[in-house]
Amino acid sequence: MSKRAYNFNAGPAALPLEVLERAQAEFVDYQGTGMSIMEMSHRGAVYEKVHNEAASRLLNLLGNPEGYKVLFLQGGASTQFAMVPMNLLTAGKSAGYVKSGSWANKAIKEAKLIGDTFVAASSEEQKYLAMPDLSQLDLPENTAYLHVTSNETIEGTQIHKFPSTGNIPLVADMSSDIFCRPFDLNQFGLVYAGAQKNLGPSGVTVVLAREELVQNSPSHLSTMLRYDTHTDNNSLYNTPPSFGVYMINEVLKWIEEQGSLQGVEQKNNEKASLLYNTIDQSGGFYRGCADVNSRSIMNVTFRLGSEELEKQFAKESEQEGFVGLKGHRSVGGLRASIYNAVPYSSIKALTDFMNHFQQKNG
Ligand SMILES: *Cc1c(COP(=O)(O)O)cnc(C)c1O
Repeated sequence: MSKRAYNFNAGPAALPLEVLERAQAEFVDYQGTGMSIMEMSHRGAVYEKVHNEAASRLLNLLGNPEGYKVLFLQGGASTQFAMVPMNLLTAGKSAGYVKSGSWANKAIKEAKLIGDTFVAASSEEQKYLAMPDLSQLDLPENTAYLHVTSNETIEGTQIHKFPSTGNIPLVADMSSDIFCRPFDLNQFGLVYAGAQKNLGPSGVTVVLAREELVQNSPSHLSTMLRYDTHTDNNSLYNTPPSFGVYMINEVLKWIEEQGSLQGVEQKNNEKASLLYNTIDQSGGFYRGCADVNSRSIMNVTFRLGSEELEKQFAKESEQEGFVGLKGHRSVGGLRASIYNAVPYSSIKALTDFMNHFQQKNG
């Protein structure tokens, strides 16, 4: 077997080795068809089976809640920043946004181009190092939806309890933590996620939506930007990102083999604890960026005593085979993205490196 990197990339990110190997085995000849899955018609029975399997696996892992549709779209989560307000922010309504960090701000920017918005809660004053308090939101009656970012990939914060919004649809950008733990889809009107962090390769965006919310898009909207085009056509209105959907299906099979979302969550908690404990027990040599109660189990952000030391850490870790530990260029510091597919052994290797680095430089 070839050597695998200790991959802490933020996205595109690590995929399960078992999935890559399975895909490799079927790459040239998919199940005796004499073709790669990439070479066949998206209208044929062979691809359609994969497509439908991936969609039903997504809902099955969430306990098959009733009345939800699965969409496989393109344009990334960034296109959903626009499609959500285009489809759901109708005249006379205002969309509520939780202003929790870099990604929330991008979502807000797009929504403002479409219609009225308001900030329902913000942690801007805490420099987004905590999730805003979502326990007592005051949402006006004409709120079209409340948008949250379940995990702020850049700052390393995560929502640990989603707000109850009653009749107001809750919309979540779950790009960087979807399926890292179980969640109750019934609480949400719509959930979206670019696949490239926890679900598969880049190029596919998964949308899980309550059918009644997305079946009547405003009539003026272009065909491709309407949710109802894609719900009416099982995400096969135009050519879907077929290889990406195939990979998602394989990743979902792998999640099932891990003990489904409960099993994955338990492993994620063990991985995150190992890393956060190493930070917390370093006597201040490493400092976690996020507020303890808002810490993400997917993106662990931390700092060292000086930017110089951080640079040295980044450089030496790279030499030792660790990939992707530099923090996002907008916030600096260091970040280890420990998505579902990053094995415990990678985090163990990282914490060993961190302890060693501290001994040398502490
Ligand atoms: C990565 C990310 C995005 C952007 O996804 P694209 O697929 O690149 O558009 C949006 N939101 C969150 C929370 C992310 O982590």
